[in-house]
Amino acid sequence: MAEHSSRAADVLVIGGGIIGCSIAWRLAQAGMKVTVLDRAEPGGEASSAAGGMLAPLGEMLEPRTFSELCVASRNLYPRFAAEIEESSGHHAGYRSDGSLMVALDEKIERELGEIQRVQTAQGYSLDPLTPGEIQGRGADLSPHVRGGLFIPEDHWVDNERLMRALLIACQRAGVRLEAGCAVHKFNLTGDRIDSVVEENDTRYTAKTYVLAAGCWSGKIAEGLGIKVPVAPCCGQMMEFEVERELPFVVRSGMHYLVPRPGRRLLVGATSEHTGFEKTVTANGLLSLMEGAVRIAPMVGKALFLRAWAGLRPDTVDHLPILGYGEIENLTFATGHFRNGILLAPVTAEIIADLIVKGFTSRPIEVYRPTRFK
Ligand SMILES: Cc1cc2nc3c(=O)[nH]c(=O)nc-3n(C[C@H](O)[C@H](O)[C@H](O)COP(=O)(O)OP(=O)(O)OC[C@H]3O[C@@H](n4cnc5c(N)ncnc54)[C@H](O)[C@@H]3O)c2cc1C
Repeated sequence: MAEHSSRAADVLVIGGGIIGCSIAWRLAQAGMKVTVLDRAEPGGEASSAAGGMLAPLGEMLEPRTFSELCVASRNLYPRFAAEIEESSGHHAGYRSDGSLMVALDEKIERELGEIQRVQTAQGYSLDPLTPGEIQGRGADLSPHVRGGLFIPEDHWVDNERLMRALLIACQRAGVRLEAGCAVHKFNLTGDRIDSVVEENDTRYTAKTYVLAAGCWSGKIAEGLGIKVPVAPCCGQMMEFEVERELPFVVRSGMHYLVPRPGRRLLVGATSEHTGFEKTVTANGLLSLMEGAVRIAPMVGKALFLRAWAGLRPDTVDHLPILGYGEIENLTFATGHFRNGILLAPVTAEIIADLIVKGFTSRPIEVYRPTRFK
């Protein structure tokens, strides 16, 4: 079996999505020698497929501690994006223009009322808007919009740009990124990992390992005899070129419109538990189109650019899996489901602190990997 020269790494990260790379970057900044293994191209899965909303206030995230974690991560974003820009020399695509939630039926109107009541009680500022006020915001939305909530603190990021800049920042910080390396076996001594082996039989060793392989993390953990139930939840997305750039994210129910530079517009997203296949289906596209045109009829006249699907890493309680479990030198950073772009900065901070300092000041007990036993 070949012995790879990266055997002296301090930390080996399995999975090069936004979670694995953000952690690797923070660790390299702290002076550690880090290798990231990805079975394909780093950044090529959910982290590029996402809509990029950084929106903890536009929905009721449970439990309260999870909602607070999401807000904390959103608060870290301006600095996180600016640092990535400084390190990479590339734009990270962060936008803080706020998000608009609109109601097109009574059910969503009631939901928005509840969101406003709960979030305002927590001290957040959300602006209720009448249909007239919404039309005055220049978003060219449906005349059937019954009302809405503008949430100045719900932001968004062009996650494809961010991911590209993060990969460059990683390289410049000295992270070794290995594409086409699918980890498939672990060598253990007692409760410690000695090495991992990838499909071409190259062996990698490190003092500490991080499992950040998105929806594939559960399958990989099986190789350690550990049950970490992470399942794929497929999301289909479409992209259009519109006549006029939308000034902010607009959401209604499960559908959302996210502006991208160059008058591009993303439309998302479906939510399907259909296994590891990333399939774009006629029904998926139909549902996205119907939702988008209902919110903004102008999308019906837009130029279609592309459609794709990605796999969100879902868990049974829909909460992420963070920190050390049964294996002494393995920390988990996975299961971020619908909020992995949002949670990247805080996850990187938590996991880097656990590895470098041996503790985190954030409450992470609820996300412990052993809770599924
Ligand atoms: C349609 C859609 C819309 C979304 N919208 C949003 C949003 O608006 N806001 C938000 O915050 N989040 C959103 N998400 C969720 C977000 O994209 C994910 O939570 C996040 O990208 C997860 O990041 P990750 O790094 O854990 O996983 P991934 O990006 O999937 O990365 C995992 C990596 O592990 C690699 N890997 C797999 N198996 C192995 C192996 N055996 N060995 C080595 N490497 C391996 C893969 O190749 C992959 O690159 C959305 C997701 C989808 C699909």
